[in-house]
Amino acid sequence: MDFKKILTFSFDDGVKQDERFIEILNKYGLKCTFNLNSELLGKDGYLTIKGKKIEHNKVAPDKVKALYKGHEVASHTLTHPNITTLAPSEVVRQVEMDRINLSNIVGYEVKGFAYPCGGINSNRVVADLIKNNSGIEYARTIVHSYGFAPQDDMFLFKPSLSLTKNKQQLLDMADEFLNSETEDLKLFYIWGHSYELDIDDSWDYFEDVCKMLSNKKDVMYCTNKEAFDYINKIK
Ligand SMILES: [Zn+2]
Repeated sequence: MDFKKILTFSFDDGVKQDERFIEILNKYGLKCTFNLNSELLGKDGYLTIKGKKIEHNKVAPDKVKALYKGHEVASHTLTHPNITTLAPSEVVRQVEMDRINLSNIVGYEVKGFAYPCGGINSNRVVADLIKNNSGIEYARTIVHSYGFAPQDDMFLFKPSLSLTKNKQQLLDMADEFLNSETEDLKLFYIWGHSYELDIDDSWDYFEDVCKMLSNKKDVMYCTNKEAFDYINKIK
């Protein structure tokens, strides 16, 4: 069957909350790409968000392969710097060494990437460095497209929307995605961090989103790489 609607998730940092997140994804048959920092695996930490201490403990390297089985592991740099501030050789090292480390851990060739850090964390210069000097095939920004159209620039790829930035807007987009008749290819691409669900205890909201989007005969549920491979094949 030729699908016109594709759903994929992209979640960053490889935190231990991914275990709970994946349980919910798996319950509803949804697929995600997880962007990991290989030199931070196994390290503990926390973030203070909205005055609340949020655990930011990373999955141990020996747990990565089993935890993310059935989903996709992708690169997020070795140590999570803002790569727009780095020398070109260090940009390439941060991306390509992470890609190689993660490929060795998971046992397949890692091809995806998500830019780390907030603010302005990507630009044409670093996108071209990655495109021309690594084995990466696509790189995701944190700039929202607020839409479903497949994009031409695979090294400054824009997600549709974050899971938690504006929950009503995400639910409205999910409704539009599911209920529109479409001849054009539609890619609904949701990004975020599983630890964000701890901030306002939004785990029930996440399960509602999964439930709403799951089990539709006309939707292809896949990882980022599967989504992009499919789009490239049929376009
Ligand atoms: Zn990150």
